[in-house]
Amino acid sequence: MKKQVVVIGLGRFGSSVCRELYALGHEVLAIDQDVEKVDAVNDFSSQASVANATDEKDLKSLGVRNFQHAIIAIGDDLQASVLCTLMVKDLGVEKVWVKARDLQHQKILEKVGADRVIQPENEMGIRVAHHVDSEKIVDYIELSKDFSILELAATKKVINRSLEELSIRANYNCVVLAIKQDEHVNIAPVQEDVVKEGDVLIVMGHREDLKRFEDKGL
Ligand code: ADP
Repeated sequence: MKKQVVVIGLGRFGSSVCRELYALGHEVLAIDQDVEKVDAVNDFSSQASVANATDEKDLKSLGVRNFQHAIIAIGDDLQASVLCTLMVKDLGVEKVWVKARDLQHQKILEKVGADRVIQPENEMGIRVAHHVDSEKIVDYIELSKDFSILELAATKKVINRSLEELSIRANYNCVVLAIKQDEHVNIAPVQEDVVKEGDVLIVMGHREDLKRFEDKGL
C-alpha cells in the first residue's frame, strides 16, 4: 500500500531513507534547511522543499499534518531534533520515527513522544558484530531483548536432511520460519522439506537457543 512519508533532515541517513522509500513507490516529501541537500533528492522524492524543521509555520504550510509517517533525521542538533519531534507529533502525525545520536538523545525523544527511536550506528554495529561472531549468519533481526530472527546459511551438517530429521524445534526450541534458495523463498516449510546446498534457513527463537543451534546444530 502506498504510504505518505515526510523525511526531515537529508544527511546520509535521511537521504537514504528518502531515496529508498521513493524507489519502493511511496509518496515522499523531503525537507531540509540546506538547499544543496534538497536539490540532491529532487529526482528521488515526490516533493523536495527547503524549510526550517523547527518553524511550525513552515511545517504547516508544507502540509506535514497530512502525512501518516515522519522520519526525522536531524543529525547532531539535539535541540532542533527534539523541537521538531514535538511539533510533528503535535500536528497529529501518527508515526514519528526519529534518529538519535546517543542514549541520552534517545531518552529525551521517547519522552517527547517519538514512536520509535533509531540509533543507526549502534544498530549497524550490533549487526556487524553478529556477522563477525558467526560467518554462518547471513542476516539478523532483533525482535526484542531476548528474541531474534536469524538467517543462517545451511552447512554440511544439515544439507540433505529433512526438517523432521533435524527436529530443530524439539532439540533447540527454535522455529524454522522459511527456507531461502536465491530468490525462491519457501515461506511455509513442512517436516518433509529437505535442506539443500545453498539454502538459507530463517530461524526464530530465544537468543540462547539460537546460539545453541548455531553452535551445535549447524
Ligand atoms: P547524517 O549523520 O545522517 O549524515 P547529518 O547531521 O549530516 O546526518 O544531517 C542532518 C541534516 O539535517 C542536514 O542536512 C541538515 O541540513 C539538516 N537539518 C539540521 N537542522 C535542521 C533544521 N532545523 N531544519 C531542517 N533541516 C535541518
